[in-house]
Formats: sequence, C-alpha cells, structure tokens
Amino acid sequence: MRIPIGSLIRLGLSISENVSEYQKGVNEKTRAARARDEAIAETNKYNRSRLEAQIARESMSVECPNCGATSNSIRRGSTGFCQFCGSAIQIDMNGNMQVHKPESEGNNK
Ligand SMILES: [Zn+2]
Repeated sequence: MRIPIGSLIRLGLSISENVSEYQKGVNEKTRAARARDEAIAETNKYNRSRLEAQIARESMSVECPNCGATSNSIRRGSTGFCQFCGSAIQIDMNGNMQVHKPESEGNNK
C-alpha cells in the first residue's frame, strides 16, 4: 500500500500540532499549579503573621511569683513555663495568674 507523501506530511504536522498543544496545556497547568502554590504560601504567611500578632496582643509579660524572673511572656488563656525556675504559670482570659511551682506538683518519683 502506498501512502501519498502529502498525507504523511499532513499527518506529521497534525501530530506535532497536537504535541505542542499538549505541551502548552502542560505548561498552562504547571503555571496554574505554581500560582496556586504561591497563593497558598501567601495565605499561610498572612495567617501566620495574623496569628503571631494575635498571640502578641493576647500575651502579657509576667513576673514569675516563684523566682521573680520578668522575661516571661505568656498568652492569656494558656499556661506557660517560667524560663528560669520552670514554674507553670497559668493566665486566664482576664489576665489573672495562677502558679504551680514545680516542686509542689505531684512528684511521682
Ligand atoms: Zn520562675
């Protein structure tokens, strides 16, 4: 069977068109995926900085009632630990402090 050279060329052209169309589609997809990833990273960054600002706003510097260290910053409504003596310092949402000295906690040794 003889295939006319014209159809072979047309076939070749249409294949290469398909390939480049496909390639374009792939590039389009990677570009879209990259844009999406960047958008997600941007959102994460934004959320993180908002969260950090919120934590900073809700945090208060606390003088440790146990050892007097003043460099502890603890978020309201959470419990932090004194960097020096390890006392657990609990701050409620109103900023009231409750301290649990390490030696007064249940020592199960
Ligand atoms: Zn302390």
